[in-house]
Amino acid sequence: MSYQVLARKWRPRTFATLVGQEHVVRALTNALASQRLHHAYLFTGTRGVGKTTLARILAKAINCETGITPTPCGKCAACVEIDAGRFVDLIEVDAATNTRVDEMRQLLDNAVYAPTCGRFKVYVIDEVHMLSNSAFNAMLKTLEEPPEHVKFILATTEPQKIPVTVLSRCLQFNLKQMPAPAIVEHLERVLTEEGVPAEPAALRLVAHAARGSMRDALSLIDQAIAYSGGNVTEAAARAMLGTVDTGYLFDLLEALARRDAPAALAVADAMAERSLSFDDGLAELARILHRIALAQTAPEALAEDTPERERVARLAAILDPEDVQLHYQIALGARESLALAPDEYTGFTMALVRMHAFAPETGDADAPAPAPGRGLVQRSTASAAPAGIPASRLDWPAVARALKLSGAAKQLAERSELVASDDGGIELAVPPESRALADRGYVDKLKTALADHLGRAIRVTVRIGAVNGRTAAGAAEGERRARDEQATAQIDADPVVRELVAGFDATIESVKPAD
Ligand SMILES: [Zn+2]
Repeated sequence: MSYQVLARKWRPRTFATLVGQEHVVRALTNALASQRLHHAYLFTGTRGVGKTTLARILAKAINCETGITPTPCGKCAACVEIDAGRFVDLIEVDAATNTRVDEMRQLLDNAVYAPTCGRFKVYVIDEVHMLSNSAFNAMLKTLEEPPEHVKFILATTEPQKIPVTVLSRCLQFNLKQMPAPAIVEHLERVLTEEGVPAEPAALRLVAHAARGSMRDALSLIDQAIAYSGGNVTEAAARAMLGTVDTGYLFDLLEALARRDAPAALAVADAMAERSLSFDDGLAELARILHRIALAQTAPEALAEDTPERERVARLAAILDPEDVQLHYQIALGARESLALAPDEYTGFTMALVRMHAFAPETGDADAPAPAPGRGLVQRSTASAAPAGIPASRLDWPAVARALKLSGAAKQLAERSELVASDDGGIELAVPPESRALADRGYVDKLKTALADHLGRAIRVTVRIGAVNGRTAAGAAEGERRARDEQATAQIDADPVVRELVAGFDATIESVKPAD
């Protein structure tokens, strides 16, 4: 017996077996049960969600010899022939290859003739948005005065490209993308029936890779069966899909958490060596960060079968929740712009550098601002007597450091520069590489902390733009340098050290101020 690909073999033949489109199925079932038929249906949705499958089931439902029914018998000549794709009154057209107006017109000219054997002549036009304008016009004439025996079922991934005149004559149904758990569940059922052993983790990987398309999921499982020699293990699925072993990504997040940038970059190199997909890497990183955020917000929401549950819990304990949010945003942004990056490795490592750069320097949100009079920061008395200082006289770097903030909101305060201010509010700028910090949520936190600090609420707007270094972060850097210089000068002047240098021909390699 020849092998039939799973996607075709398991193509749903009834409304009941159509997975994940309950909302559409319910509406169609009710309409069919009460014999309410429309002249034209439009099924929209991304590829592989079941648009043409649904079209065929509907064609059976209205042509089944047992009568118009939401449960076509599957046994009569009409049902059998529609399932086999050889029912003469079901005309399936792929608009992507039949865009010429004369072909369309010829097809529609035949619409006036009564069906050969069925109750209705059904035109299924897939990728209907590909039709030319004149082809649409030809179709519109038929849609305006459709013969009683004609039904149109249009399918498209891009409904916005269909003329409104056509749209308005169709009953529209939007098919949803399949959520990964629903795909996993279906794959489990299929493989059990097929007698193919599979590890649950392998099915989860395939479900994610299918991105909402059941058809793709079944094709991938077919490949995985062939690839693995009939035993779909996690390792085989991973190798076949080129997906990144999540172990790498946990290593990476742990390195970021302990502020070890070289270790994080080493993980990226290891991934590059094994030619793993950085796009998948970023997606998987976002998935892990999502799990960490869940674990921080609602630990009970972390399901028992969460992959790598222990490592998620450990990272949830050591990462600042705001950093998790920020890392997540950076991962998504990097993924979006990966195509624009010089190469995937560059895009990926740039994201790591950003994650590292935006993490708090000390990790201690309650670290006190330096005492007045030390270093370069205290150019005014703003932080010594904050309340009542009008916005127009703010020493922003000093205020930024004094605000009771943590995580990304703290970073926003410290990396932003005051560009304009009046008594009613301030305008801040953050450099383009820190644009993730300009997020509404962080700005709101900053605003609240600032209101606490000043004793009244003021307007805060943040824009993306060049900064000149008059930021708390810039000032801290300047201060650190000044202290290093001061320490070096002190050491140089120290008589004991001078003696050591002179007596032993020693050199001073580095100097650290003792805090
Ligand atoms: Zn039938």
